Amino acid sequence: MYRKIVIKIGTGVISRKDGKLDSRVLKLLVDQCAQLRKSGIQTVIVTSGAVGTGRGLITIEDGATSVIKKQVYAAVGQVKLMSMYAKYFAKHGIFCAQILATKEDFRDKEHYQNMKNCMENLMRDNVVPIVNENDAVAVAELMFTDNDELAGLIATQLNVDAVIILTSVDGVIAGKPTDRNARVISEIPFADISSFEKYVMPDKSEFSRGGMLTKFKVAKELAEKGITTHIANGLTSGILSDILAGKSVGTKFLPKDK
Ligand code: GLU
Repeated sequence: MYRKIVIKIGTGVISRKDGKLDSRVLKLLVDQCAQLRKSGIQTVIVTSGAVGTGRGLITIEDGATSVIKKQVYAAVGQVKLMSMYAKYFAKHGIFCAQILATKEDFRDKEHYQNMKNCMENLMRDNVVPIVNENDAVAVAELMFTDNDELAGLIATQLNVDAVIILTSVDGVIAGKPTDRNARVISEIPFADISSFEKYVMPDKSEFSRGGMLTKFKVAKELAEKGITTHIANGLTSGILSDILAGKSVGTKFLPKDK
């Protein structure tokens, strides 16, 4: 169905309720990514969770600004996060690689090209690139709004077929998420995207930066560029294989023809 994809894994998916890294969920997702990779699908992961992981590991003295806290948590958490990815991919005999980016890297032509070349070569050598924002250096003006935006930029840069945004809800819901009868919108055709915007709730989960609003915005921009976006629940077992098998899970944004 797809030959090259970006999988975005949100903080809410790989964090437990207390904010610490949920290594069990991370392992299940890596197992699925490894299967995709083995079936010949080129895969790039955009992962969040560094800040949350760091927060679960160390305590910062009172008095630090929120920017400093974020930098320190991210710098500590990123190491742990990547070590878990590397450990779980290694069980499948697959190497993964870390790419940390700031907005600046997308503004500078040379950085942009270097990053693209690096990721393309990693994929060619069967290595899975794992991208996150370089939170340790990304102060306000260098920051992405969130990793959904970063995933969108990477998808465009690598001209992938699809982006799968894994989050902690089932997709775009036609109604209030608290309403048990509200159903997930399974498909959003390109021509009608704007008419679905009314279903997007501005709420965010406690530990992550983005929300459905940015996911929707990114999906809309990608659809313009001919790239399909899926928004689905990363906690649902076998979610990636189901999406790749063409099953109707989550919300699929159909793109304009390439
Ligand atoms: N880069 C942040 C982290 O790794 C996440 C940003 C986001 O949630 O979009 O914690």
